[in-house]
Amino acid sequence: DRGHLVPSADRTTSIKANSSTFVMTNMTPQTPELNQGPWEKLETYSRSMARRNNDLYIYTGGYGQKAKLRNTISVPTNFWKIIIVVPRGSQINSQTRVIAVDIPNIYGIKEKNWRDYRTTVRNIEQKTGYDFLSALPKDMQNVLETKIDSR
Ligand code: MN
Repeated sequence: DRGHLVPSADRTTSIKANSSTFVMTNMTPQTPELNQGPWEKLETYSRSMARRNNDLYIYTGGYGQKAKLRNTISVPTNFWKIIIVVPRGSQINSQTRVIAVDIPNIYGIKEKNWRDYRTTVRNIEQKTGYDFLSALPKDMQNVLETKIDSR
């Protein structure tokens, strides 16, 4: 599938905003079972949290390379997503809910629950080389990046 990184349904305030998700730089090669299974379910869950008066900070991407399409497009071995859930009007603190998932880009997982792939932000930092939440103090990063969501 041409999987969206930013979902089309997350950008519906204008035609321009929605069209901006239909560009090839927002497309990633995902198996249909990932894209239409746990990935889609997590996106839907995210929108439900946004509707319930939360602001969401979302990072997403892939890592690894399991194949190349037409010798140019890398097919990641895994896709990951980090969602910071901040009740509207609140500040990020050590109790802030952090959802991080790392899902293999494989077949046969359509019926799997995204919750089965929860991990820590720190683990995704190690896999990708990124430093997430880098604007927060180090001790706050240590708290938020080492807990696993359990809701
Ligand atoms: Mn960090």
